[in-house]
Amino acid sequence: MGRNKDRKQEVRTTKNSKTKNISRRDFVKAGASTGIGAAALGGLSQSAAQESITDIQWDYEADVVVLGSGAVGMAAAIRAKDLGSSVLVIEQNYDIGGKMVHSGGRTSLGGGDVIQERDKTGSDPESLGLTDPLIPPEDLEDDPDRLFRDMTDWSVVDTSGVARYRYNDRELHRAWANNTVATRQFLLDNYVRFARVDGTHNGGGMTRARAARAIMKMADKTDIKAGILSPQDRGDPDAELNSPFNPMFSTPGGPGERIGAPGCVYGGFTMSRSMEFSAREKGILFMLNRHMDEIIREQQFSGRVLGVKASYTPRFHPDTGERLESYWNNGNIDERTETINIRARKAIIIGTGGMHGNINLRTMMDPRLSEPSLEVGTSSLIGPLNMDGSGIVAGMKIGANLAGMMQNYQHYSGSPRISSTIGTRDSVGRIYPGHPSFLFAKARGIDIRRSGWAHLIVVNQIGSRIYDETKIPAGNIENATYPPGSSNTREDFVPEDWRNTSVKHIKENYSRSSAADAAMAMNEGSEPPDYSPGPIWAIFDAAAAAREGWKIRYPFIANPPDEYFHQADTLAELAEMVMAHPHQKFPLKYLEETVARYNQFADHGIDEDFEKPSLHKIATPPFYAATVGIRLLDSNGGLRINGKAQVVDIQGEVIPGLYSGGEASGGGEMHGLGRALVHGYMAGSHAIDEPALTKTTVTKRSI
Ligand SMILES: Cc1cc2nc3c(=O)[nH]c(=O)nc-3n(C[C@H](O)[C@H](O)[C@H](O)COP(=O)(O)OP(=O)(O)OC[C@H]3O[C@@H](n4cnc5c(N)ncnc54)[C@H](O)[C@@H]3O)c2cc1C
Repeated sequence: MGRNKDRKQEVRTTKNSKTKNISRRDFVKAGASTGIGAAALGGLSQSAAQESITDIQWDYEADVVVLGSGAVGMAAAIRAKDLGSSVLVIEQNYDIGGKMVHSGGRTSLGGGDVIQERDKTGSDPESLGLTDPLIPPEDLEDDPDRLFRDMTDWSVVDTSGVARYRYNDRELHRAWANNTVATRQFLLDNYVRFARVDGTHNGGGMTRARAARAIMKMADKTDIKAGILSPQDRGDPDAELNSPFNPMFSTPGGPGERIGAPGCVYGGFTMSRSMEFSAREKGILFMLNRHMDEIIREQQFSGRVLGVKASYTPRFHPDTGERLESYWNNGNIDERTETINIRARKAIIIGTGGMHGNINLRTMMDPRLSEPSLEVGTSSLIGPLNMDGSGIVAGMKIGANLAGMMQNYQHYSGSPRISSTIGTRDSVGRIYPGHPSFLFAKARGIDIRRSGWAHLIVVNQIGSRIYDETKIPAGNIENATYPPGSSNTREDFVPEDWRNTSVKHIKENYSRSSAADAAMAMNEGSEPPDYSPGPIWAIFDAAAAAREGWKIRYPFIANPPDEYFHQADTLAELAEMVMAHPHQKFPLKYLEETVARYNQFADHGIDEDFEKPSLHKIATPPFYAATVGIRLLDSNGGLRINGKAQVVDIQGEVIPGLYSGGEASGGGEMHGLGRALVHGYMAGSHAIDEPALTKTTVTKRSI
């Protein structure tokens, strides 16, 4: 029953988008008021469009309407509220946090921020029990000009030979660098704590150390204001448990010793829960289970934005059918009407995250991404609408320009990577039971680590090997990061020096593996029109599992086993069983042949097909087939924004009242939180200056 309900959500969403076409009257009305299909409206006069806007029945209104409650959304909402605006946050999921709550919490800011300054002196003003600083004071000496130069340095080359920083939008990054100091302070003011600065996160610049992990200190009970966390809320990796408080990937919250914070745990959940607590305390209101479908603008391509149309998108417990509820609920508006209109008196801020869940959008930058089995972001946590690109599409429909669509190209986490956690539909989440997202992941997956690849083969949808398995491990592209010389980057790094990009340096440090390309190549099973390659499978035997100590049991595999993990006494049976996978089109046709050939290679100690250096026969039943996730984590292209985080249209004009940032926006190559939090801070700061519409009559609530 629950499963059906969850499906219902997906169906309804599809239906919603289809209803736009159902009747000409509806089409004209919706299209004229929301910008949909105006080209198709042909001869209709502008006044018809205007008329329909006046017809809109608004259900709610607030000064600032924030879309999404991840890094951008929470920063923007709190900042706008701090500056005196009323704020309503719309979130499609049942809980707050987006990818931020799932992240590692490593936050690269800089420019002379308060954490860099703290570590220069070695002080510990919040009595977190920090160790001595991990970075020498001269490498913490920073300022916005240096940060801006670092963020646009054309000569920084990663281990795939790509100089990414050169593509960073200059106006945007000048503003970003001017706002990092204020953003770090803002985070501290909203109960976020940081460990010692421990380097610089991907894309954060080369010449100074700027990244620190968000932390909480372990104590008997959780107290956000005091920055302390109970073991129950942390979850217990030894007991193989997460908690409803912490959905974090890998072990629930890492230990703090390595980052100068012994007795603390780190993770995006410490940042997200702290900001959420603060936001609720400040009176920000949240409407969860609510997906923004369309942005309503005065005219399709002109005038200010007025509000959004949003639909009800609850998620249900797959066994009990109960609706999932947020961890905290103070400040929640429980609105269950199918579709409502929400008016923004001042501004709309799009913090809806990335687009990798949307095949039409993601194939704009790489046609191979048509493959439907690719894993995207943290699907079990965020649900079926995960990274659906809805903010980007809604912006495009009212004329927004895009930026940086090519910036996922060979990006270390924006382009396809193969995961070392196998046998689960959510190898990004790597979640234990205890958090609701496990209900959807069903299995944490088996972490085979780097060493495991020698003990199995990887086959495509027809059962043929694709690559030297020992060269597969993810993370083979490394960004250049501080300190110079780490991640195989140039040790004697001099900013903007051609030697950083010299062929000699690139030859010495090139370490990209093409395993993901091989996995996405066409094969005998690829069919028109897009010739997608299908899923890939790890094939191994009982002897491999015993040698490597793989835990072939719940919660690492599902109970009962699901479509993503299979066990059989013969290879022939195994080849049939994989058909249960939603994207496997036919049995693993060549599996028996492939394994026989591989076993011959193992007997002779030479892999004639892929030159794999270490071979183990696959001969001891039971045999196993586990899905290998090809995953897309970061999303780099999106709405074009200027130095105030305002969305810019295709003519280069600002769309009045519309803001965005983070993974919904483009123009910035940097990974994750640093990028998104500063954009949110900028958006919240400027949105409140928009001229306010006067209050209107609403059916439900004016905020
Ligand atoms: C496993 C993992 C580890 C990571 N570790 C780090 C790290 O250590 N450091 C780092 O810097 N970055 C890290 N990141 C990346 C970082 O979490 C993201 O880049 C960042 O959270 C993006 O912020 P955002 O606000 O753009 O999107 P998100 O944080 O994803 O928030 C988007 C929100 O919008 C909601 N939404 C989407 N569409 C709609 C709609 N139409 N209507 C209403 N709501 C909608 C989503 O449900 C979601 O809650 C990590 C990510 C993952 C998955």
